[in-house]
Amino acid sequence: MGLRHNNAPMVDRVIPLVNERYGVLQAPTDAPSTPLTGQLLDRRARPLRDLRISVTDRCNFRCSYCMPKDVFDKNYPYLPHKALLSFEEITRLGRIFIQHGVRKFRLTGGEPLLRKDLDQLIAQLSALRTPEGEALDITLTTNGSLLRRKAQQLKDAGLNRVTVSLDGLDDAVFRSMNDVDFPVADVLDGIDAAREAGLSDIKVNMVVKRSTNLDQILPMARHFRGTGVTLRFIEYMDVGATNGWCMDEVLPSAELVKRLSAEMPLVQLDPSSPGETAQRWGYAGTDGHYDPSLGEIGVISSVTQAFCGDCNRARLSTEGRLYLCLFADKGWDLRSLLRSDADDATISNALAHIWGQRSDGYSELRASLPAEAAQGRQRVEMSYIGG
Ligand code: SAM
Ligand code: SF4
Ligand code: SF4
Repeated sequence: MGLRHNNAPMVDRVIPLVNERYGVLQAPTDAPSTPLTGQLLDRRARPLRDLRISVTDRCNFRCSYCMPKDVFDKNYPYLPHKALLSFEEITRLGRIFIQHGVRKFRLTGGEPLLRKDLDQLIAQLSALRTPEGEALDITLTTNGSLLRRKAQQLKDAGLNRVTVSLDGLDDAVFRSMNDVDFPVADVLDGIDAAREAGLSDIKVNMVVKRSTNLDQILPMARHFRGTGVTLRFIEYMDVGATNGWCMDEVLPSAELVKRLSAEMPLVQLDPSSPGETAQRWGYAGTDGHYDPSLGEIGVISSVTQAFCGDCNRARLSTEGRLYLCLFADKGWDLRSLLRSDADDATISNALAHIWGQRSDGYSELRASLPAEAAQGRQRVEMSYIGG
């Protein structure tokens, strides 16, 4: 094992195929029949509302906190196409998840816009309805590099909203963070394209690493304040096992809010929905009260203020494994069920069983875990299950 430039251990150069890399849990084919009340609860009484669907494990960026170049190089064993869930398989699962209470689908990856014909998947998902006949909330997280080309077609297919990841406004900082020399101007243009296409509620996610983009917080806030785009700051997380995470690099959200409000006063806003990951802060006007015309920011404090108690999210990996926590090391193999002769009722009962036994809450435990566990070598990568 070698050392990275920041003294964090580097993973072994031989990276096993997914099947040996991550643990698999067999989804039951004989789970007891569960009525479709839309009120599935886990062992901590948390409902299932939000399904994040990873449509590819590939990406055209190499953000060091997610897919460091020295690990995700040309020898990295990405999934072969036949391993990926097809759009029909995803949609079939989506229909069953809705019956169990899911109301939001977020497409992610890897870079979701690299998946060929993604608009066709969006069209299929947007045709689904809740038992009350309502459409679902369909959103997407993207690095924005292909938005100029694809925003209109995604909107036309039924995409409602988009979140664009952008870690700084300074071109040199941004190019070094994406590590493929991608210019910031093209991502900003992608955000404009999303707006022009009529996508509403555009959010921008900025991961903050102390040593890298601390000086980008204020320029980013100044740039997006009053534009209708909500900027959200994410604490750098110890996801996966390849990014060499250490606590020293994390800027606690409380400190970020303090720094920001010294120049642009902020007032705390109520959550807009239960289980929301971001804490909302509104820009104050000259009277000291929230001024909606200036808009708001969000802080996602996954490291310093765990929000597991309300976590209503599940993640479907690119090859159809269901993960009940971002920090899980094992996923439930739904693809085998989909590719067997199991009917929808069998799959539905399996999902109910899987969610019913969930008790995850990694972020609540992080501080009390030994260092090796907090840098778990088995933990799935974010590019594989999506953010
Ligand atoms: N490629 C797309 C993108 O970058 O938006 C979608 C996938 S990416 C894994 C989803 C989100 O996870 C992005 O907003 C990214 O910034 C965030 N992310 C990735 N690694 C992270 C880490 N170590 N800590 C915090 N956020 C991270
Ligand atoms: Fe790619 Fe998104 Fe990960 Fe960056 S954060 S490497 S854009 S998947
Ligand atoms: Fe949910 Fe796991 Fe994140 Fe807690 S650590 S909020 S359980 S995904």
